[in-house]
Amino acid sequence: MEKIVKEHKAVVAIGSNSGNRKENIRTALKSFASFCHIDKYSKAYKTKPYGNKNQPDFINMAVLIETSLSPTELLDKLLEIETHLGRERTIHWGERTIDLDIIFYDNLVIQTENLTIPHPDMQNRDFVLKPLMDICPDWEHPVLKKKARKLT
Ligand code: ADP
Ligand code: MG
Repeated sequence: MEKIVKEHKAVVAIGSNSGNRKENIRTALKSFASFCHIDKYSKAYKTKPYGNKNQPDFINMAVLIETSLSPTELLDKLLEIETHLGRERTIHWGERTIDLDIIFYDNLVIQTENLTIPHPDMQNRDFVLKPLMDICPDWEHPVLKKKARKLT
């Protein structure tokens, strides 16, 4: 098997509110093995939907990964997994089953049409901040200049 060079650290937030939520998260995380090493897993949290409240509760968690992929390459992989799970989803449930968001990538600040890092609004979302506290409470937000533990 090809050796994965792990040059960068990133945090990916994971959410699911449709179908077998834990199974969706498990399936998504299995696919991570091909492009990164998972350093740490947060606990899984059941959370109320944010924004549009007229939908089932979410299960949210986050992982700290090491990867050699660039931010855009990482985003492409995550979107691929979303599409893959989404394809099954459209057959079985007709709803979104998995959301994979890049929260941090090293200490980079990126703002392009398709990718904003750190993830915008993360500091206002408990379902992101709680898992962060499990895996990287001392990670400093490169724009707000505050550690994750100080954002809650
Ligand atoms: P949300 O995650 O806010 O509910 P979506 O998952 O539907 O919204 O949005 C997907 C799009 O968000 C992706 O196609 C991607 O281009 C864009 N995006 C911008 N910044 C990020 C990020 N940090 N992580 C993941 N997707 C992002
Ligand atoms: Mg998303």
